[in-house]
Amino acid sequence: MRVKPSRLIFFLLFAMPAFAQNPTYDSYLKAQTAIDRAVAAYGGAAALRDLKTVRIEAAGETVHRNQSRRPFTFDRTPYKIDLAIDAEKTSLVQTVEGGYPGGFKYASGIAIAGTEGRSWDAVRKTRRIIPNPPFSILRQRYRYFPHLLICDAMRRSPGARHLGVVKIKGVDHDVISFSNEDNVNQSLYIDSKSGRLTKVDVLTSDPFEGDAVLETIYTGTGAIPSGRITRVAGAMTEELRYAKYEMNAAIPETAYALPADYSEFRAAPQSDPVQKHADGVYTVVAGGYNVLFVEFSNHIFVMEAPGGDNVSRQAIAAIKRTIPNKPIKYIAVTHHHDDHAGGIRTYIAEGATVIALPNEKPFFEKVVTSKFVLNPDSLSRNPQPLKVEVISDGRRVLSDGTRTVELHDIGSGPHTEQMLVAYVPALKAVFQGDLLNRPPNGDHPIANDTSAHFWNWIEASGLAVEKIIPVHGTVTTMDEFRKAVAEMKQ
Ligand SMILES: [Zn+2]
Repeated sequence: MRVKPSRLIFFLLFAMPAFAQNPTYDSYLKAQTAIDRAVAAYGGAAALRDLKTVRIEAAGETVHRNQSRRPFTFDRTPYKIDLAIDAEKTSLVQTVEGGYPGGFKYASGIAIAGTEGRSWDAVRKTRRIIPNPPFSILRQRYRYFPHLLICDAMRRSPGARHLGVVKIKGVDHDVISFSNEDNVNQSLYIDSKSGRLTKVDVLTSDPFEGDAVLETIYTGTGAIPSGRITRVAGAMTEELRYAKYEMNAAIPETAYALPADYSEFRAAPQSDPVQKHADGVYTVVAGGYNVLFVEFSNHIFVMEAPGGDNVSRQAIAAIKRTIPNKPIKYIAVTHHHDDHAGGIRTYIAEGATVIALPNEKPFFEKVVTSKFVLNPDSLSRNPQPLKVEVISDGRRVLSDGTRTVELHDIGSGPHTEQMLVAYVPALKAVFQGDLLNRPPNGDHPIANDTSAHFWNWIEASGLAVEKIIPVHGTVTTMDEFRKAVAEMKQ
């Protein structure tokens, strides 16, 4: 239909008020209204401005997403945190206790006072200085405290925008986004009636999932939460109950002191990241993990893809420097956990075939379909189809007649239901992940249920084993391994 010029002018004139509305300004105004409502719900502007310190004591469970015994399942282990933040002095003190399936336990602390940072490991009784700790360490932890987030939103409200209204459990919530001082853009979900902060989320990039939303959901009904739930890409990763939620209680100076009876942490000596164990058998340290690579007559075999794309790219660069002109034909991982397989997409982009345990095949099939728009990785830039060979009978031997690597599934253990290790006959060594960990500085290994299960498997396997090469840490002799298992049983 042709519009008569007179009609067009008429339409433009009378439609002007609608066009004059500016979406930026409109969104800004709506954001202010929602923030004002939240400020009132959290004690008013003056009280929030006067808020100096906050502290929680919380307990609950870590829900293991990509750290469970089987892919696509969510094992739980206990978790405890005591966290105090002094927002004015930019300081914090935190102690945590937690673990992973299979007898892994950690207990540690961190204290930051302005530009001084310290941390300690209560299991190994070591302590260390953190030089120039970034303030993001502090602000990441604002998510524990709705009061700090609302205070932050109030201070930075000129940059806030209204994204829309959504229903949470049938109740309307205004969604406000603003960037904090670290340029992290966060969305606050503010109850449109009560002004209560129900949820905060941020966009993040996950090595398996790609683009993901990290959500913190406050439980309870009042301004002081009864706990919090964390979700990544829609899956719960943490469920905590707040036993204590204090405001404006002074943090004693002594809280920042390092435990006096702990020894100073020794850093690992600097060395060549590539270590040659025998002709054609190497490990490379990438992102703090050991990756095994073996040269065969016309290709390379790699075992373990820890971390993510960056770590895999580092490892692949070192592998290609060491063995130029041969393709990486196979990649295997010990198990599907993100610190062991999070970088597998990079090897798929390289054209490598994944040698997988049966329950990992559907997992990797899903991992290749993830979208990486926020933080494009090697596979999203160079899409390649997934090639998989499944180890169906628990064993796979790679050999070119001269060099041999045996892959064994050690079966169901405390850490995973299926677990691959590589036995290198020429070395009489087993390369493994999480079955016997050790710090990179060579401090003694501490065994757990998972290590004891692995020890029994070696004994039953009949393999001639003299040493263990771990993904985490340094090489361990069988004597050291025996001693660690005996110490654990005492
Ligand atoms: Zn693991």
